[in-house]
Amino acid sequence: MKYEELYATLRRRGILWPTAEIYGGAQGLYDYGPAGARLKRQLEEAWSAWFVGLSEDFHRIDPSEILPEAVVRASGHLENFTDPEVICAKCHGHFRAETVLEKFRPEGVDGLSPAQIGELLHQFPVKCPQCGSTELSVPQPFNLMFGFPFGAAGGERAYLRPETAQSSYLAFPRMWDVGRHALPLGIAVVGRAYRNEIAPRQVLFRLRAFTQAELQVFFDPETFRPPFVSVADESLPVLRVARRLAGEEAPEWRSARSLVEDGLPEFYVFFLVHQYRFFRDVLGYPKESIRLFEKSETERAFYNRIQFDFETKLESLGGYKELGAIHYRGDYDLSRHGKGSGKDLSVVLEGGRRVLPHVLEVTFGVDRNLWALADYGLSVEGDRTVWHLPPYLAPTSVGIFPLMKKEHSAEARRWTDEIQKAGFEAEFDAGGSIGKRYARMDELGVPYCVTLDRDTLAAETPERRTATLRDRDSKAQERVTLSELLNRLASSRVAPRPPTLDSFE
Ligand SMILES: [Zn+2]
Repeated sequence: MKYEELYATLRRRGILWPTAEIYGGAQGLYDYGPAGARLKRQLEEAWSAWFVGLSEDFHRIDPSEILPEAVVRASGHLENFTDPEVICAKCHGHFRAETVLEKFRPEGVDGLSPAQIGELLHQFPVKCPQCGSTELSVPQPFNLMFGFPFGAAGGERAYLRPETAQSSYLAFPRMWDVGRHALPLGIAVVGRAYRNEIAPRQVLFRLRAFTQAELQVFFDPETFRPPFVSVADESLPVLRVARRLAGEEAPEWRSARSLVEDGLPEFYVFFLVHQYRFFRDVLGYPKESIRLFEKSETERAFYNRIQFDFETKLESLGGYKELGAIHYRGDYDLSRHGKGSGKDLSVVLEGGRRVLPHVLEVTFGVDRNLWALADYGLSVEGDRTVWHLPPYLAPTSVGIFPLMKKEHSAEARRWTDEIQKAGFEAEFDAGGSIGKRYARMDELGVPYCVTLDRDTLAAETPERRTATLRDRDSKAQERVTLSELLNRLASSRVAPRPPTLDSFE
């Protein structure tokens, strides 16, 4: 689907809409409606099951969204979490340097200093995107954090977390104390992070408040050995730096084993496979549309030793978009927070060896992936629009329709109650023709609809009552009893699950 059509469908169905819509919206802020919020929760739970479920020593925490200044000072965000902006002398608009240079330098300006960006602005005939003036200021670093006075006295400052990762680093010593005193230890956070983006755009792709799902794996670089042989034969669509420099944009299929022979660490490639399988097997993205894009030394943050971005090609946004990443951050985080706090964050392992753990960070943008699910799943088929969501992600499991409102509602309500009691989301709908009700459910990605009619009530006992079950994707219909329906729903809610790390021990 094209961008406008996709966004219009999501708004029409109440999946999401701009925050403060009656005031004209607020740039970079969106609200999720009931179905959108449920889909988002399903996505978060699926992520947790896949990543946090990987080991008994991986845990999900729910830390504060507000951080004291000392934290963002130690992490480097106060100094470096900036995006160069230019200001137009004529219309006073503020623009990201990257945006005004986009036409001339499509690879972006990551890793360049303000002085280098200033040279580029001189070099090319750059114009203000708003008024066309050529009088643009020299680029200034603009800090992307939301900061504010903290406490009544006003002497302190605090910040909305710019990423969820910092909370996991702060939690490490406490989690070590309460845990099994063993590495690897995983700490995951799913929650909102906040960035005062200069130019929010593309709905869910550059937000000022957005939801991240991030797993930080703390490990001992000398002994960390995930079961690589179990994934060695997987083929991955990778685009490595050398091929990019040779002008290639398409990924090539490489076995996990061959990437290790190239020199990437086994533990890193293990997680590349794990995240790739999540995109392919759980979210159902077509594997031909996925690209594991390696960032070069100048493109990645200096503390990242290895970085691959997970991208997928989206029709609505006209190309590859980043939906997640894996960063090997070394011991940067614990060493910075050790210095900042004056606490030694190293740990003593069994056998007496002291190590400062390294961190592997697995990131996932929840909002962006919700958009990607819509991009891949929503399709116009003849006179209907269908969202082919995997059934275990669908915000509602089943729509329950009485054929005639008066005659069949009581029994349809009973089925709805029983289904909800069994733990599934069921939506009762008695409004309009059956065709209209199907259309509504199809657009929301509801995998099954059930219609109760005269034949339902004709059965001798309640247990033998049947209704027409209709499958969203095939439109096939069959008669089922309530208990058959519950079994069907139960099996449709089961997402693929990987073996755990512990099962290989
Ligand atoms: Zn201007």
